[in-house]
Amino acid sequence: MTLAYLRPASLPEAVEALSQYGYDAKVIAGGTAVVLMLQQKLIAPQVLVSLVRIPFLDRIGVDGQALHLGPMLSMDAVTRSPLIQERLPALAQACAVVGNVRIRNQATLGGNLGHADYASDPPAVLLALDASVLVYGPPGKRTIPLADFLLGFYTTALSAEEVIADIVIPSLPLDTQMVYLKYRTRSSEDRPCVGVAAVATMDGKICRDLRLAVGAATEVPQRLARIEALAQNQVLSDELIDEIAGQYAAGLDPLDDLRGSAWYRRQLIRVQVKRALKAVSGGPG
Ligand SMILES: Cc1cc2nc3c(=O)[nH]c(=O)nc-3n(C[C@H](O)[C@H](O)[C@H](O)COP(=O)(O)OP(=O)(O)OC[C@H]3O[C@@H](n4cnc5c(N)ncnc54)[C@H](O)[C@@H]3O)c2cc1C
Repeated sequence: MTLAYLRPASLPEAVEALSQYGYDAKVIAGGTAVVLMLQQKLIAPQVLVSLVRIPFLDRIGVDGQALHLGPMLSMDAVTRSPLIQERLPALAQACAVVGNVRIRNQATLGGNLGHADYASDPPAVLLALDASVLVYGPPGKRTIPLADFLLGFYTTALSAEEVIADIVIPSLPLDTQMVYLKYRTRSSEDRPCVGVAAVATMDGKICRDLRLAVGAATEVPQRLARIEALAQNQVLSDELIDEIAGQYAAGLDPLDDLRGSAWYRRQLIRVQVKRALKAVSGGPG
């Protein structure tokens, strides 16, 4: 069977093509996941709908309330953006450690979310940043919080006709510290075994708000709000950090796979959460 390749010039055109072909069409962005899936015969679409010609999908924008990241931004573009380095350093850190330089040049942020592979780096940071995904489909636009967008292994809330049009990150208070720590078990270019993102709004030594996400250890990245709340209006002392790290390790149900057993991941979650909290509290990691 031949595979058609469409290059619509606008989001409405892309949605029209997707609506016409339904599950026989597949959106393609950088292609790092789609091409592998085609080669391995995991998917067999009749039509690829490329987003490459659609203008402004690789923009970085700011308004009063939020930072807007276009889905076609490559990992490399996110990493190199002075605005992201300054405002969202943990996202720059996460994109900088994706795969290798060839992958980072090609792989897009929207494709990373659309693929929904649990062993990914950026989603944990985006979850800790309270990001939402703006999707464009036949009825128009809808905004989906990331926690409701990533549903499970390779599964998102996108319908077959919808395209990710924007990734929206609400503005943060000035004194917000953040970090992303990736732990790999196999090689320097590998996907994460565990990734931890911590975002803490500090008032001197007092933590006013903590958001802590653990990625790559479970089907979708996780935050445990009850445990994050332990840090609210508290000094992040060694004792409190130990308590939070222990409770995250006990509160998650990690996966067992080639990158690490559930037991091993649990140890890593405890250690990496501890390191991340020390980093955001200004203490030695
Ligand atoms: C060798 C290798 C190493 C890797 N290492 C890492 C790693 O260390 N960490 C990590 O996080 N990731 C890693 N990845 C995964 C990589 O980040 C993803 O494959 C990439 O981000 C997907 O982006 P893409 O633009 O290539 O997407 P594509 O392959 O084009 O698409 C991926 C999926 O998303 C959908 N899609 C793409 N864009 C949109 C959109 N705008 N709207 C709706 N759906 C869309 C497609 O239909 C498809 O289902 C690795 C991949 C490879 C091949």
